[in-house]
Amino acid sequence: MPSLSERTQGFTDSVIRRMTRICMECDAVNLSQGFPDFDPPREILERLAEVSKEDFHQYSITWGAQNFREALAEKQTRFMGRKINPNTDIVVTCGSTEAMMAAMMSVVNPGDKVIVFSPFYENYGADAILSGAEPIYVPLHPPEFNFNADELEAAFRQNPKALILCNPSNPSGKVFTREELKYIAGLVEKYDTFVITDEVYEHIVFEPNRHIYFASLPGMWERTLSCSSLSKTYSITGWRLGYIIAPAEIIDVAKKVHDFLTVGAAAPLQEAAVTGLRFGDDYYADLAAKYTSKRDLFLKGLDDLHIAHTVPQGAYYILLDISEFGFESDLEFCELLARNVGVGAVPGSSFFREPVNHLIRLHFAKKDETLYAALNRLEDMRNKIPYRK
Ligand code: GLN
Repeated sequence: MPSLSERTQGFTDSVIRRMTRICMECDAVNLSQGFPDFDPPREILERLAEVSKEDFHQYSITWGAQNFREALAEKQTRFMGRKINPNTDIVVTCGSTEAMMAAMMSVVNPGDKVIVFSPFYENYGADAILSGAEPIYVPLHPPEFNFNADELEAAFRQNPKALILCNPSNPSGKVFTREELKYIAGLVEKYDTFVITDEVYEHIVFEPNRHIYFASLPGMWERTLSCSSLSKTYSITGWRLGYIIAPAEIIDVAKKVHDFLTVGAAAPLQEAAVTGLRFGDDYYADLAAKYTSKRDLFLKGLDDLHIAHTVPQGAYYILLDISEFGFESDLEFCELLARNVGVGAVPGSSFFREPVNHLIRLHFAKKDETLYAALNRLEDMRNKIPYRK
């Protein structure tokens, strides 16, 4: 037999998605892969039912249905604070997963370097390998997950083509401040690079933190490929609706990559999602309030169990410190947590470049009753997981 492609040998399947399969096998409360168990907004679902009887069953325009791009441009113009042109500045993709991949392939040549902050969402490693890029990892130092200015500039000195910026950040929950973003922007300008953002948690930010779109900083629109999706904002992760927003010259290239990767996102789903894109500002304030209450509920539960954890500023992930159990392998810990305790988590090692094995990631995008059920089960964690020291 001939050998399979070399590029696929550099990464494993997604540990996040693998943990979901394990949870299904053992009926664990799945707090591993980040997706909600509550319904999307009723208006979107009602529109979806209508759309099934209308004429949306064939391909839409490859870079996104006109109606969808117009609604998205209007919404993002409001939030990003600059006029987004629906015809030239947007490519609609199959989730932000495709948006990030298409963005990478649009700016990176094989052998180019890209800066990735660690910890990072596991897709970026695979995206880099698939597009032939070489990641330069820059640590975000716990507990604040701040970067060190010298370490970051040392990475820029290695002549990277782009920096990947997940903000609000998965899994650390960091929301970058304006000062931090301005510092990054200064280096981006000085060393002449692109920025590819992942801003899927843009509307899940906790007071007093504020989300600042990197593309909105002076001089950064020209260099930024802003990737995001509707998955987390409207609780429709299965619809796979994402997008890249960037200047027309970059979007022209991204359109080509996207066209040959997937042709387009699902036409009926784009049409139904327009209802969500047209929601007023109250919707986003309510979403942030809902997630703030879930975060507080879950953090209080963890405090009551005396489990050390991070306090997210945004997104919906918490890292728990499991050092007391003395496990060498956090993957093995997570498997036991799912099988013996009945709670699904993701091993922290899937996010860190550094050798970290004492953290696991849980998320709180779940109904309150699901979070209480998980906390209930976690109460028994110390009896059901054998200590290794
Ligand atoms: N972003 C989600 C997470 O980190 C998962 C997204 C996905 O699996 N596509 O869990």
